[in-house]
This record gives sequence, C-alpha cells and structure tokens, in this order.
Amino acid sequence: MVEENVEGEATPAGEEVVPGVGYLRRLLGYGHKVYGLGAVLARVRDGRQEPQIPMATVVRTVFACGLFRVRSFNALEPQLGEPQLAHALGLRPGCAGGRLCSVDTLARALRQADPRSFPDMLSALIERAERNKVFREGWIGALRYVALDGWEPIASRRRHCAQCLEREIQDGKQRVIEYYHRYVVALLLGPQEELVLGFEPVRNAAARRQAGERQVEGDEGEQTAAIRLLRWLRATYGRWLEVIVVDSLYPNGRFLTVLAELGFAGVVVAKKETDEPLRDALAIWGQSPGQVITDADTHERLELWDCPDCETLTTYAGPIRVVRGVVESMAARPTPRRQWCMLVVGKATQRLSARQILRVARARWHLENTGFNQWTQHWRFEHVFTTDGNAIAAIFALFFLAFDLLQLFVYRQLKSYGRLRGKDPTRTISRVVDMLVADLHRLDSFLCWDSS
Ligand SMILES: [Zn+2]
Repeated sequence: MVEENVEGEATPAGEEVVPGVGYLRRLLGYGHKVYGLGAVLARVRDGRQEPQIPMATVVRTVFACGLFRVRSFNALEPQLGEPQLAHALGLRPGCAGGRLCSVDTLARALRQADPRSFPDMLSALIERAERNKVFREGWIGALRYVALDGWEPIASRRRHCAQCLEREIQDGKQRVIEYYHRYVVALLLGPQEELVLGFEPVRNAAARRQAGERQVEGDEGEQTAAIRLLRWLRATYGRWLEVIVVDSLYPNGRFLTVLAELGFAGVVVAKKETDEPLRDALAIWGQSPGQVITDADTHERLELWDCPDCETLTTYAGPIRVVRGVVESMAARPTPRRQWCMLVVGKATQRLSARQILRVARARWHLENTGFNQWTQHWRFEHVFTTDGNAIAAIFALFFLAFDLLQLFVYRQLKSYGRLRGKDPTRTISRVVDMLVADLHRLDSFLCWDSS
C-alpha cells in the first residue's frame, strides 16, 4: 500500500507550525505518486489533427483552473503568460512570447476531444484509490454508498449550444426562453472524503437522436440519465459500490427494477403518502408508536417504524422494506418535527437497522452541501466558460477531478489539518485552496506531473 505520507515527511508537526508552505508541491507529488495524475490526465483522447499545443498542456491548464478556482477563462488568460503557472504545471510554454497557450486554444481542444475519455479520467483516479484500499472500510454498516441527484449548474438566456435544454420562463410581462444544462451526479458518501464517481448529462431531443435513439419525442427526463449513469457505474467500477441513495424522484418500479438488475441495493426517499408501498406501510403502522431512541451525539429524539416486507408495488417484482423516522431536536431551541420515509431494497441493506437507514437517507444531503453548494459557490461551475456542450462537460470533469484529488489530499495526507478545521468540509477545502494559490505565486521551479 502506497497511501500515506508519500514523501516520507514527518507531516503533522511541520504543517501545523507553518500551514501551507509547500502544499502545492505536496498535493501534486501526492497526485503523481499515489494516483498517477499525469497518466490519469493522459487518458483524454485528442480529436485534433497535428495540434500545435499538446493535449497535456490543455488538460493540466484546465485542471489547474479548477484547482485554483480561477473564475473565468478571461481571468485565466493573463495567467497563461506567467512563468509560475508553467512551473506549477511542469510545462515549457509552447507559444511565442512564453505563453502556455491561449484560452481559445483550450476551448477548441476540449470541444474536439473525445467526450467519452473524460469520465475515464475520473474513474482512473477512483479505481486507483480503491486499489490503495481507501474505501475498504466502507461507511455505515461497512457498506459503500453512492448518492445520485440531478444538478443544474448553468442557465443562460443569451448563450446556448446544441446540447442545451430549454424552458420558457416569465420575465416581468413577457415569456422568455432560458437555456440550461442538467446533469445527474454520483457522489461516493463517507465520513470524510466524498468523491465524484461520475456524471451524466440529461440529453435534449437532438442529443438523443445523435446517440442512436429512434422515435424520440422531446428531451429525456432526469431518471433516464440516472439509469444510464447507474449502468456506467456498475460497468466501470465493478461490485464494490453497493448502495444507491436517491431522493423522492425515484421511488418507482422502473428505477427499483434497474437497481435489482444491476445488483445494487437502494435507499430511496419517499414523500407521497398516497403512493404504494408507503401508503400500505403507513396503514399497517396506524397510530401505534414507533421505537424511540435518544441520540446523545446529535441531541435528537428519533421515533422509528420498520415494515420489512411490503410487496405492493405492481411495477417491481421484489419485496420492499419501508422505514419511517420522525426526528425531533432536543436542543435548547427546538425545531419542528421532521418525518422521513424510505423504501429499502436489495440484500446488502437488510442487515442495517432502521436507525442506520435513516442516517443513510439523511446523508444524501451531503451531495447538496459538500457537493452542489460548494461547486457553485466556490468552484465556478456556474460560470459559462465556453458555449460548447462537449467542452463544458470536459471542464466539469476536470474540475471534479481536482475536487476529488483535493478531498483525498486533505483527508488522507493532511489528516490532522482536516481535523483542525472542524466539521465544515467546505471551509477546510477553501483554506487549503488559498494556500495552494499562495504557493503558486512563490513557485520558482518546475513541479513533476509524470515520470517522463
Ligand atoms: Zn448548452
């Protein structure tokens, strides 16, 4: 196992005295030695004929743009002429005048790259982490959980591309068209690092036809994209991913059947009390009280009901376990009682207690908090860097890769630092990024990204 402290440093003492010095060198050294970062990025297949600027320059530059949270390609443009960025990327400038390249070149190269090679890059990093036994212990009940949810990072009334979805919205007195991109994102949940495993765009009608679908009527729905992502997750990562956690868009036979077919267990939030099988379970429980548990750590009172075997969904062949939890805060300022209902399918989840199932369902919010909120507020995902669908997805993949590597670095390498920053992962990561940027401006020699 080549996991911890790759450079053999006595990290904790030094790092707490002068936090941040040399973090960029350490991060990239860690990426290179433990995850083969250069080789991971080299998976992006170039679609250009005899390019002047190598693809390595393009992908490293955009990866760095994500890592340093550069707010736009306009803001990146002057940095492409600064020697520090070339040093950080381990690249000799290719253009006249000592510039790495132009932002137009970046956008053009990403537009023409093979779009299928970007998810490969993410999975290469995760698989390497898996081989290094990063996820060996699993999480609640020693299982590995993946949250899936739809996410809409960008919307515009002016700029659009062939892959945009469209909707009509009211603007004052007039109706206007808004263009947007929607993705389903898969996040590996855990007690510390939470990593993006993959993402899939919701396709518009044209993209569906281009992908070979016949008799297309309109855009596809989020669930169709989610099912495509599920199939990709299983085919790419094999069996170590066990439980899929999703919100109340998904408690339906079609989705549960796909989970069963692919051998995934599932925890699915259900909200509609009139829908089967929740209606049946609620009828069985009636007015009878549930099991009451007091959680001293979270200062909560939990009331739990568990119906292990509801077979009432006509569109799904297997048994469904239904769990209901009512959460009440016992803190000084009480909050309203909140009810959670979950449909639970698959073998792996049967051994979990009702309390554990509730914890899993609530952890789905990590995707909103550590994921979506952080990405739009701090990672500039909401900025329209370029107006081509392929290039946008490529930029997102490179940003996700930077996000994953940072998470692994903070929680696996700077363990004591991660703890020092308390329980707010966004703040922890933000501080580390500040230090990386400060490091960038101090760099006077080339950093190593690969073994060549
Ligand atoms: Zn678009």
